[in-house]
Amino acid sequence: VFISFEGVDGVGKTTQVKHLRAYARSLGHDVTVTREPGGTALGRTIRRLLLHGVDDPLCPNAGDAGEGAAAQAADIAPRAEALLFAADRAQHVAELIRPALDRGEVVITDRYIDSSLAYQAGGRELTTAEIRTLSMWATGGLLPVRTYLLDMDPAQSHRRIKRSADRMESAGDGFQSRTRQAFLDLAAAEPDRFRVIDAARPVTAVWEEIRADVAPLLET
Ligand code: C5P
Ligand code: MG
Repeated sequence: VFISFEGVDGVGKTTQVKHLRAYARSLGHDVTVTREPGGTALGRTIRRLLLHGVDDPLCPNAGDAGEGAAAQAADIAPRAEALLFAADRAQHVAELIRPALDRGEVVITDRYIDSSLAYQAGGRELTTAEIRTLSMWATGGLLPVRTYLLDMDPAQSHRRIKRSADRMESAGDGFQSRTRQAFLDLAAAEPDRFRVIDAARPVTAVWEEIRADVAPLLET
């Protein structure tokens, strides 16, 4: 059983993933919990590139001047960025997700293909169709049976984020709003796979709704 959690930064995906892991285990399942980008060793190297930019030995100031400055010194082109996320996902599926599913485990991932559709195609120069084709190729067409979209007003989720301000999260509020809408559009297009969860409510209320929905999927 393959389940993903999606949504913009700070909506509480990690917390709900933990609730679901505990619940699935209580039902007797073996559970693999993972995330993107960075679910594998290769993925963590890619994650570092994506979030903190490129440390270019030919541009010595880039490495020394801090992570934000490094990202600016060697900016990642949109197509290169999309390919890096796709490479992370390809390795993630090949090394971790597919083997775990083959062993009969419940696999829960914090972000998957829909994050790429929302972020790499949302408000940038690449189309959703391009990113979808790329990601489906990277994964051999593997999709979750259920995707929980944790949705809330970005102004509210913003307040929850401890100011880590990596390369991605430093993008402005308009970007978060566009990304939120991109996620909602994806959910509307695939109502069988998606559940849109109002994540502005207390954690326990959010979890109760997810638990009620996921229970039939975890019956053995
Ligand atoms: O969820 P997490 O904090 O691990 O994501 C790291 C950053 O990468 C986030 O700021 C998110 O907005 C961004 N991201 C992205 N495209 C993806 C996945 C994550 O831009 N496909
Ligand atoms: Mg984050």
